[in-house]
Amino acid sequence: MGQNSKYYGEEIEDAARIIITSKYVVALTGAGISVASGIPPFRGPGGLWTKHGEPPPNGYQRFLEDPVKWWRERLTKTGFYRDFIETLSTANPNPSHFALAELEKMGFLKCVITQNIDNLHRRAGSQNIAEIHGNAFLLRCIECGQRFEPQTFSITIDSLPPKCPTCKRGVIKTDTVFFGEPIPEDVLKKCFVEASKSDCMLTIGTSALVYPAAGLPIRAKQMNNAWLIEINPYETAISDLCDVVIRRPADVALPQIVNKIKELKCLI
Ligand SMILES: [Zn+2]
Repeated sequence: MGQNSKYYGEEIEDAARIIITSKYVVALTGAGISVASGIPPFRGPGGLWTKHGEPPPNGYQRFLEDPVKWWRERLTKTGFYRDFIETLSTANPNPSHFALAELEKMGFLKCVITQNIDNLHRRAGSQNIAEIHGNAFLLRCIECGQRFEPQTFSITIDSLPPKCPTCKRGVIKTDTVFFGEPIPEDVLKKCFVEASKSDCMLTIGTSALVYPAAGLPIRAKQMNNAWLIEINPYETAISDLCDVVIRRPADVALPQIVNKIKELKCLI
């Protein structure tokens, strides 16, 4: 295996060997990893935004101007919210989420950075997770940034908007990052720290177009000459940068990689 040359042939074995020999493997995941869990992409046929319209580009500003209105709509769960929460609540982790959790347990994978808000990595058992766009099943204070499980609050329609029990100042919103909302500082920092440590990054089911996620594999490559392994049925903006490209759905490829690693470890 030459240094960072392209592999399209025995790509599952190549990926497994690279993961075994790397010191700090990080996974970056996007919407594609959750398709097999029944979560449609936001855009495109059957997408929630296609059906209900795109959320406003200034969604965060609108929340700040009238958080009571946002919470009232959310509590009455009309239209988009009802569809959205029902879709997310009925989805379950698929074999790719479980494979990543297993890789972490085996000691190979150090962190999952995800663009998804669907909570499926946590439910599959991953521990060290950075959720760039937040988590739809958590709440967050817009002032102090603390996150809460929803059951921490009894949010009723006549006590809106909910206020932070920790700093007593901030309004509580969903942890999901809205359009126009800055990515929470702690998460952003974690992403860059993890990418800087990474000498192998798996990019899974992400088109790698949206920043800051798009910059992370490039950072790892520039800083550490990291191996980049792409798992995606479709070509992406970073395919050309990748050392190994696996053109299969993640729920097929990742369990194959885990099995290959087990097989190779038995031989060592
Ligand atoms: Zn607070």
